[in-house]
Amino acid sequence: MPSPFPSPTDTGIIPGLDASGILNHAPIGIFSSTPQGRFISVNPEMARICGYESPRDLIDSIKDIETQLYVNPEERRNFLHILKNREDKAAFECSFRRKNGSPFQVSLIASIIRDHEGRTLAIHGFATDITAQKKAEAETLIQKEKLESIAANVPGVLFRFDVLSDGRYEVPYVSKGSADVLELEHQREDFFTAFLKGVHPEDRNAFLDSIEKAVTEVQPWRFEGRYTKPSGKTIWCSGASSPTRHENRLVFHGIMLDVSDRKLAEIQSAKSHKNLLTLMDAMDALIYIADMDTHELLFLNAYGRRLFGNATGTKCWASLQADQTGPCSFCTNKKLINGEGMPAGIYQWEFKNTVSGRWFDCRDQAVPWTDGRLVRMEVATDITMRKEAEKKLLAAKEEAETAARTKAMFLANMSHEIRTPMNAVLGMTHLLMDTELSEEQHRYIENIQSGGQSLLALINDILDFSKIEAGKMHLERMDFDLQGLMDDFKKTMDLLASEKGLAFSIRIWPETPLLLRGDPARLRQILINLVANALKFTEEGAIEVSIAVENADSHSALLRFTVQDTGIGIPEDKTEFIFHKFSQVDASVSRRFGGSGLGLAICRELAGLMDGKTGVESVEGKGSAFWFTARFLRQEASEKTPSPIHEPGETESGGQKKMALPQFSGRVLIAEDNATNLEVAMGLLKKFGIRADSAGNGLEALQSLKNQSYDLVFMDVMMPEMDGLTATEEIRKQELQGWLPVKEIPGTDLPFSFPLKKIPIIAMTAGAMPEDRERCLEAGMDDYIAKPVHPDELSRVLVKWLGKENPEDTPDTSSGTFLYPPEDNGSAHLSGIKGIPVFNRSALLNQLMYDENLLKKIIKISVGSLYLLIQELQKALETDNSPAVHLQIQTVKTMASSINADALCVLAKKMEKAAKDGDMDTVRKGVAALEREFEKLCRAFGKDL
Ligand code: ADP
Repeated sequence: MPSPFPSPTDTGIIPGLDASGILNHAPIGIFSSTPQGRFISVNPEMARICGYESPRDLIDSIKDIETQLYVNPEERRNFLHILKNREDKAAFECSFRRKNGSPFQVSLIASIIRDHEGRTLAIHGFATDITAQKKAEAETLIQKEKLESIAANVPGVLFRFDVLSDGRYEVPYVSKGSADVLELEHQREDFFTAFLKGVHPEDRNAFLDSIEKAVTEVQPWRFEGRYTKPSGKTIWCSGASSPTRHENRLVFHGIMLDVSDRKLAEIQSAKSHKNLLTLMDAMDALIYIADMDTHELLFLNAYGRRLFGNATGTKCWASLQADQTGPCSFCTNKKLINGEGMPAGIYQWEFKNTVSGRWFDCRDQAVPWTDGRLVRMEVATDITMRKEAEKKLLAAKEEAETAARTKAMFLANMSHEIRTPMNAVLGMTHLLMDTELSEEQHRYIENIQSGGQSLLALINDILDFSKIEAGKMHLERMDFDLQGLMDDFKKTMDLLASEKGLAFSIRIWPETPLLLRGDPARLRQILINLVANALKFTEEGAIEVSIAVENADSHSALLRFTVQDTGIGIPEDKTEFIFHKFSQVDASVSRRFGGSGLGLAICRELAGLMDGKTGVESVEGKGSAFWFTARFLRQEASEKTPSPIHEPGETESGGQKKMALPQFSGRVLIAEDNATNLEVAMGLLKKFGIRADSAGNGLEALQSLKNQSYDLVFMDVMMPEMDGLTATEEIRKQELQGWLPVKEIPGTDLPFSFPLKKIPIIAMTAGAMPEDRERCLEAGMDDYIAKPVHPDELSRVLVKWLGKENPEDTPDTSSGTFLYPPEDNGSAHLSGIKGIPVFNRSALLNQLMYDENLLKKIIKISVGSLYLLIQELQKALETDNSPAVHLQIQTVKTMASSINADALCVLAKKMEKAAKDGDMDTVRKGVAALEREFEKLCRAFGKDL
């Protein structure tokens, strides 16, 4: 196989590899030049590095090497000089210029060729382009300088620490910073020993151990410790380095820093942290700090340790709570960090701890721990006492509320208990008045009466107030005529004003709606209170009540009532105070004028119930204007507005008149063990024209009933031997067995069926509560009368159960007031009531000795009774029970007559006649008329109901 290389010729020279061949292919510039500076010959590489196309091009172009090739001609001269001085051979570096003028670096190795006389013949040499090499060298230098400068500028000491395989060590490099940081010259041979000497004796062993560990385990080295400089100053050094394995050594490149500032800050912070923990330890509150991820307790203060033991390091949920098997459901961690992962502020909550059973007010927040992470800190103060106090307070409040309710009950009971003997006193004085008396005695009795009445008024106030306070005051809602109410009110007040020589007027402004719906009685109560005060505190001048519209719509109107007087007035600072209960401007006033200080408080409450307000404008010594507002509904399709402003009317003449008592016939039994009560009842009954026997207890009553027939029994409930309830049950039993004779209803000879045939038994009791009444009715009694017996009550009962002796009395229409215009009720033959008054109030008042209270009571009772009677009448008609129909009509007639409900009475009379004639159709139509008439009557009662 032929060799790829040409074989040498006989001359031993391989073609192409002879001297000229070598020269031509040598990768180095070869030249030969004259000492004068011309090239004799150059190889192609020489031409190439100098930027010429060929050796010929170079030789021909460069006529003077020194000036044309050398960048700096001086250098050639230098080079030749060096050559000559160094035995004609030398190496040299200089800058050449290429053909295109660009400079480049060359390394020359040349020798001088001399003739035998020593003259320089030529210079032969090699040239290499070292531009790239020089550049690399320069860059390396720059790099090195940079590193040196970095090393010099790093705030610390950079070092290299070599551990040789035989265990010896070397410190081949230390940056200059060591002079500054350690006060050790960086080039010191004994650098390590010198440094070790400076390491604080307490830290020295740790230092050596750290090196040993890093070397034996080939691990990064770290150390922090104190180092005392040769000058004596101690600093904190922190060193770190990483090992790299070399052939026969372990090389640690590392850095050593002065960390005194940080270390001192750390020491300081640790110290203040410790101080803080000490402080927290001393606090009288539970404080703990827990990791928010692991729930580990990082700190628990002494207070906490007393409760939970030394639980630091355990899970908070395990140590601070009982029976927790994992993080608590109420853990507050999430509430303490906001969306950005920053502390969200303090979260406060109350909690009953399950280990201690105590209540805590907890304030939790995320705070940075020593290492910078956020942890939960809770400061919890024991509020068990407060909680218990709150509980007690709540219990006390409930108790107080119960007490208030009890008080209201008690007041209701007590007021009755007080009212009963009061009534006894008043009743007895009433009887006394009717006896022969000297003038002096009469005066005394009048005083007793007026004192008693004041006391009753006070009791009524207290009862009203307690009712309001107990939330039991409910307003009525009924149609009434404001004009009528005020007219009537004026009549009453005129009398009192004129007695004091004061003018009294009422002014109703034209736009004021008059046909209203609301509670006229309560409105009247407020007005009476304010006007009574005005009268009380005014010695001369006038009192005016004015009524105006505050605001109104089509359904309701808020009216403003003002009572203006010319009295003593009220100091400005007391104008609010006097509306509080039991508050008076000065106590001497109440001594002088009487009064409880409850009136205005009641007015305010009542006005409030009517969606209104109260107030007063007053000038001391000049007078006061008390005002209140109250909202009323308008009556449907009501258009009535006031007639022009009212002028003061004439005062009514006449003082008290003796009551003309209705007369009854019949015989009654009173079972009563209390002598006073018995006396009052017997005396009054006598006045009503009734014969009465008495029994001291239930047994006696039973005996009397067997011996004698009675029309009615008044039965006391509490009696010795046999009480009223038992006696009643016994009577009812005996009636059933036929032992007791059954009475017929007086005034009739009709055959009544059983329940109506029983003897009416009327309970007499001091108990005012509905339950008392219930008990009596359950025992078989028919009605109820408060004890001691009062004339009006007695009259009601007698009217109801005996009937009035003279029911045929024709009403006196001449003195009546047409409170409501009569209307055609569409029942032709019953329209005879046209023109007859619905209710003759003055006649009734006259009959009742001008006793307004009595009037009201009687009205109230009759409304209830009439309502029931009409119901009974309807029932009787439905069942075609004509005797019952007859009886009910008759009773309606009697009752209407006794209360001067004239129209109703006339109607009842007509119906009675029709019933007698067997004209049931007329009776049926009459019932509808009766209902309408009854409604009218109720409206006419309006203010008195
Ligand atoms: P009293 O029953 O004491 O009158 P009131 O609550 O009605 O209770 O009144 C409280 C106090 O307000 C009165 O005692 C009196 O000092 C003062 N007062 C009420 N009305 C007037 C008035 N018209 N003029 C002057 N003072 C008044």
